[in-house]
Amino acid sequence: KTLKQGGTFVVEPRRLSKATAELRARGFGEITIPPSTETAEKQASRCTDCGVPFCQNACPLQNNIPDWLRLSAENEPREAWRVASLTSTMPEICGRICPQDRLCEGACTLNQSGWDAVTIGSVEAWLGDQAFANGWVEPIRPAAERGETVGIVGAGPAGMAAADRLRSEGYQVTVYDRHDRAGGLLIYGIPGFKLEKHVVQRRVDRLIDGGVQFVLGCEIGKDVTLSELRQRHDVVLLAMGVYQPRILSAPGRGPDSTVAALSYLTHQNRRDLGDAEEDGWHEARGKRVVVIGGGDTAMDCVRTAVRQGAASVTCLYRRDRENMPGSAREVVNAEEEGVVFEWLGAPKALLSQGDTVTGVRAARMQLTEAAPGQRRDIVPVPGADFDIPADIVIEALGFSPEPFAAHEPDLRLRDDGTIKVGSVSFATSLPGVFAAGDAVRGASLVVWAVREGQDAAAEIDRYFKTRTEEVAA
Ligand code: FAD
Ligand code: SF4
Repeated sequence: KTLKQGGTFVVEPRRLSKATAELRARGFGEITIPPSTETAEKQASRCTDCGVPFCQNACPLQNNIPDWLRLSAENEPREAWRVASLTSTMPEICGRICPQDRLCEGACTLNQSGWDAVTIGSVEAWLGDQAFANGWVEPIRPAAERGETVGIVGAGPAGMAAADRLRSEGYQVTVYDRHDRAGGLLIYGIPGFKLEKHVVQRRVDRLIDGGVQFVLGCEIGKDVTLSELRQRHDVVLLAMGVYQPRILSAPGRGPDSTVAALSYLTHQNRRDLGDAEEDGWHEARGKRVVVIGGGDTAMDCVRTAVRQGAASVTCLYRRDRENMPGSAREVVNAEEEGVVFEWLGAPKALLSQGDTVTGVRAARMQLTEAAPGQRRDIVPVPGADFDIPADIVIEALGFSPEPFAAHEPDLRLRDDGTIKVGSVSFATSLPGVFAAGDAVRGASLVVWAVREGQDAAAEIDRYFKTRTEEVAA
């Protein structure tokens, strides 16, 4: 049964299998059950090849989705993989963790016409897994070596994507990261239930096998200065993300009364990777957990707490469901796993006994009428404050850039601390220094980091080649 039968459309149901909530709560493995070849091909065949590829336009990488869906449906997964890897250096990762409901699948014509969208992300992840399993992922083997060297600060998706493209062109690439593992937030931020770590590690291994050098445990600005790095390399790419957590400003908040979201998630990811436990690791087993925030990080925290065996998990968010920044899919997953959402609840104070936090006092909010062309605002409902008991309060209020960049007086920044670059050139105000990813965009998405890393690499290549041509002329 395919979509096109005898010239008429028969709409197959959307099949995206997930582990049951009960099973999910027992561990940190990915919740999406990989489709069988038959299911993936059926899903791919649901594409109507509508002629105007809205999905492709909505994909930050402009992935040629209709073509690789068609090839997958025609039982040509290797060709489909080749098409998918032309525009993306990590299709199997984006296929797993893009918020597809807001990107490709949200724009799918089937979705727009009231049917369920093609599960584009799951087909993309399936293609990538097939490619790794069958040896179709080509190693990085540059046609010719080039003498120029590039130092990349940050081994997250932006740095990895740039390293992949630059090394493929033959440049000598060294990636520096202050962590002990490469992968950035793919390793230490995003939990295993969305992205298992071996999926990231095989990409890192491919870079190492292709000749990319990694210098881990090395913080630029502390262990090595940017000036030293610029002397070491012909070009430097800054791809160090944004890591300064935004902090709750509320009475009762002491230095140890809350847990920072990323520290909480990093500890759990380290556990999953088999690292020895350190002091200060937070364990939610048997505890009442309140997570403040409504983005992807907040969703990852509540779902981590469920898996750690928390007695109760509540997400407190000041706006309503429709206005939350996180992916709607992740909210559904969290609800299925037993998380309680307190929509329209703004934290007002932290409650404690001595040094021990006991809860959060919240103001009930309501939406105002929107002024023409403006978003609806929120205001407190008088006399409707409420308390949520808690043993652990996790702050997931977003991230700003760290002051690293501010210590470089000639590096121009925007008012929010992100690095200012040419919108096409990715060049910063420092000669030979480029920047990409969250460090430039502010906290964003993996797919945008990949896109910027790839584009910055193309610009660095152009920079080297035009200089060489100038010298040669
Ligand atoms: P990062 O991934 O942050 O990598 C930057 C690297 O630079 C890090 O490894 C860091 O250690 C290193 N570094 C920083 N400063 C220095 C320095 N001075 N010297 C040396 N190294 C340094 N996006 C999605 O698309 N889907 C999701 O489901 C999703 N979930 C998320 C969940 C969480 C908890 C968080 C925090 C983010 C999530 N995101 C998600 C966003 C996504 O992870 C980021 O947009 C993306 O990782 C940015 O890539 P990047 O390479 O710019 O930076
Ligand atoms: Fe969709 Fe993301 Fe893949 Fe683009 S990269 S096709 S937006 S899942």
